[in-house]
Amino acid sequence: MRYLLLLLPLLLFEGDASTFEYRTPNFVVFCRDSYFAVEVGEAAEHYRAKHAKEWLGKAIPNWYSPCPIRVNVINEAGAGATTFSFEQGEVFGWDMQIQGTPQGLMDSVIPHEVLHTVFASHFRRPLPRWADEGAATYEEDESEKQHHRQLAHQVAGTEQQIPIRRLLVMKEYPDNMGGIAVLYAQGFYLAEFLIDRKGRQEFVKFLETAHRTDWDRAFEKHYGFKNQEIAYTAAWREHSQPEQQVASRYEIKMFTGPNCRRCEEDRQKVLPLLKAKGLIVEILDYDRNLDLARKENVIGLPTYIIYENGKRIAKLRESHSISSLLKRRH
Ligand SMILES: [Zn+2]
Repeated sequence: MRYLLLLLPLLLFEGDASTFEYRTPNFVVFCRDSYFAVEVGEAAEHYRAKHAKEWLGKAIPNWYSPCPIRVNVINEAGAGATTFSFEQGEVFGWDMQIQGTPQGLMDSVIPHEVLHTVFASHFRRPLPRWADEGAATYEEDESEKQHHRQLAHQVAGTEQQIPIRRLLVMKEYPDNMGGIAVLYAQGFYLAEFLIDRKGRQEFVKFLETAHRTDWDRAFEKHYGFKNQEIAYTAAWREHSQPEQQVASRYEIKMFTGPNCRRCEEDRQKVLPLLKAKGLIVEILDYDRNLDLARKENVIGLPTYIIYENGKRIAKLRESHSISSLLKRRH
């Protein structure tokens, strides 16, 4: 066993001469920017210790060989991949590749990927994908999590949605990008629901119980749900509730007229979307509702008047401002 901690990054002369190498007790970072290599290495150690304490309730010993982290700083959304193999309960052949903006890497990609390594050295076996990705995504920045929640919501009740009994046992990723995104979204949503209820360490114990017995028993023992379908339905109900509450709080009147092309476009494109969110839109012909139109000071078509709990809160000309308005007030 040897530990190397170099305080200054070394220039690597083999391979790509412009790549710096920075070693910490458990990681060795390869990056073109020497300062960023140090930041990544320190962040990886920080999250390794933090995750171990928060998820496992204890520190994990240093690894025999460090996990390489290959960093590619690019001006694109963050992404990462960590690979390793298991042999007789040991982890071998670590390799982590990460890319993104410096901020995306620090806020989301590194905490995510490092949790995979902490889980690998704790469980010493491949985890079901939904749980591994769901937990790792739980450590990402809120802005990233929001994307996953939205997608989980979008696919609900559609063909794209992965049935719970399949989701829980998937050991591999789906073979298309859309499927992978859905797996992440649904996995994260279910994991977040469970972790928010009883914390990170209970989630780890739940995974151990599921491995020893089965999912239904694990859900019952750790979360009090009789089986996986009931747990998933409960997760789903919590997810959709805020939106239903928003919907019932609001009422929208839309003023239209016979020769209004934009009114017609909105009726075909926007109203179905609002309806899908549970928002009720009352359509009023301007000429036939002159008194009300004058009272509401309608001067162009279409015009939307929004009421919250019966109180008029806005007059809008652009239909797309409706959803942003409701989002802001939510
Ligand atoms: Zn991941």
